[in-house]
Amino acid sequence: MRKKIVAGNWKMNKNLTETKNLLADLKVKFEHMPNGEIIVAPTSVNLQYTSEALKGSGIKVAAQNMHQAESGAFTGEISADMLKSIGVNIVILGHSERRAYFGENDTLLAGKVQTALKNDMTIIFCFGEELEDRKSDTHFTVVENQLKNALFTLEASAWKQIVLAYEPVWAIGTGETASPEQAQEMHAFIRTTIKNKFNAAIAEEVSILYGGSVKPANAQEIFAKPDVDGGLIGGASLDAASFAAIGNAM
Ligand code: PEP
Repeated sequence: MRKKIVAGNWKMNKNLTETKNLLADLKVKFEHMPNGEIIVAPTSVNLQYTSEALKGSGIKVAAQNMHQAESGAFTGEISADMLKSIGVNIVILGHSERRAYFGENDTLLAGKVQTALKNDMTIIFCFGEELEDRKSDTHFTVVENQLKNALFTLEASAWKQIVLAYEPVWAIGTGETASPEQAQEMHAFIRTTIKNKFNAAIAEEVSILYGGSVKPANAQEIFAKPDVDGGLIGGASLDAASFAAIGNAM
């Protein structure tokens, strides 16, 4: 059976002291783990602290990004090997903010995916349409192309390491949420797309998270949809009580 997951993307928030406080609160809130996986993705500066602080807690840690090269002259960048050396085995790739502000396109992301796979990492792969795509009714084509360009060349065996995160860009950090029905419609489309390209077993096993203004008030209704396997949470993951409520809504 596929995994339920709630992952918190802290983005460029929380210095070390704030990270320590939030992790301490989360460990208390998740003393009894919900029926699924809880992941937090702090800034890279605090990954090592987080990785050590969460040992034995059941909460997992993810990086928000990594470079596609194994090592080399890439000032300011972080490699898969560096992440693994501090106990970080999960990486978020393709977040819409990386695509929009740092020029990450499908070709670059395909390279990052390959490097993460080679390093035995789990990938939370983000994608989703812009508002204009939805308005012009091209959102299914846009999403299909994002999947095709970055993931369609994968070996079937690689899918064990992939978690998908559908995040309509118009719903990220805007307070605008896709309705549970819109989320379900797209998640079902994504699963069918994977089934048609790969096979039914892979499509059934892959977890597909929804991301975009998920809050304690709407999480349960969204997560109840049959093809929604949890969420990738931005703003609401910065507060322990909100994130715990969302985690417990899985
Ligand atoms: C995100 O950035 O992945 C996200 C879903 O943000 P928010 O929950 O704040 O919309």
